[in-house]
Amino acid sequence: MKKFGLLSMVLMLILIISACSSSNSASDKSKNDKVYNVGVDTTYPPFEFQEGSVYKGIDIDLINAIAKKEGFKIKLSPMDFGGIIPAMQANQLDVAIAGMSITDERKKIVDFSDPYFNAGLTVVVKDNNTTIKTVDDLKGKTVAVKKGTTGAKYAEDNSTKLGIKVVQFNDSPAMFQEVANGNADALIEDYPVISYAIAKKDLGLKIVGDRLNGDQYGIAVLKGQNTDLLKKIDKGLVDLKKDGTYDKIVNSYIGKK
Ligand code: GLN
Repeated sequence: MKKFGLLSMVLMLILIISACSSSNSASDKSKNDKVYNVGVDTTYPPFEFQEGSVYKGIDIDLINAIAKKEGFKIKLSPMDFGGIIPAMQANQLDVAIAGMSITDERKKIVDFSDPYFNAGLTVVVKDNNTTIKTVDDLKGKTVAVKKGTTGAKYAEDNSTKLGIKVVQFNDSPAMFQEVANGNADALIEDYPVISYAIAKKDLGLKIVGDRLNGDQYGIAVLKGQNTDLLKKIDKGLVDLKKDGTYDKIVNSYIGKK
C-alpha cells in the first residue's frame, strides 16, 4: 500500500511536470508564430518596389534582415501610402516601413524606430522648364502631390503663402506622369526617390532648388502596443549598421552615398 502510494505520487509529479512544460512550449510556440503584418508602399523605389512577383528595395531588405536577426516573422502588405496610417489606426497592420518620414503628427498615432535614412522633400519640374528654379517660383502654378505624404502636407500647409493649386495622386508614378505630360507644373517628392527615378530612366523631369526640409525615415509600429517589437527593431537597426549589412543593403540599390 505504501509502495503504491509512493508510485502514484511519482506518477502524478511526472504528469504535473510534463503538463507544465507542454503548456510552456505551447505558449512559446504561439509567441514565435506571431506573424507581424507590415505595411509597404511598393511603388516607391529604391525603398520598395515589385519585380515580377518579388518585393525588393532598401526597406524590404532592411525589415527582412531585422526580422531574421531578431527572430520574428513578418508578412508584407502592399498598399497605397495614403492607406498605411489609417490601416494602422484600424489595427490592420502591426508595422509600417514605407519610406515613412518621422513627423510629430504621426507620432500621435504610431511609435517610430530610430531614424534609418535621411531624405527631405524637393521640387521637381519638367526637364525643359526654365521658369521654375525654386519653390518661390511656383506662384499661380499647379503642384502635384501624393496623398497622405509629407509632400502633400507641405503643399497644403503652404498653398496660400506660395499661391499654388494642389492636386493629389495615389502613387508616385501617377504624380510623375502628371508633370511629365504637362498637366501639372511641378511636384513635390522625397529627394532620394525622385533622384533614383530620374537616374533609372528618362522621366522628362528635373529637380530644382534646395531640399525643402530634412525629413528622416522611421519604421512605425502601433502606438503603445508593440513596445517589445520596437525595441527589437531598434536593436536590429543598430546591429545591422554595426555589422555592415545596412551599408551593403543601401549600396546595393543606390551605390555609395
Ligand atoms: N516620406 C514621405 C512621407 O512619409 C513619402 C512616403 C511615401 O510616399 N512612401 O510622407
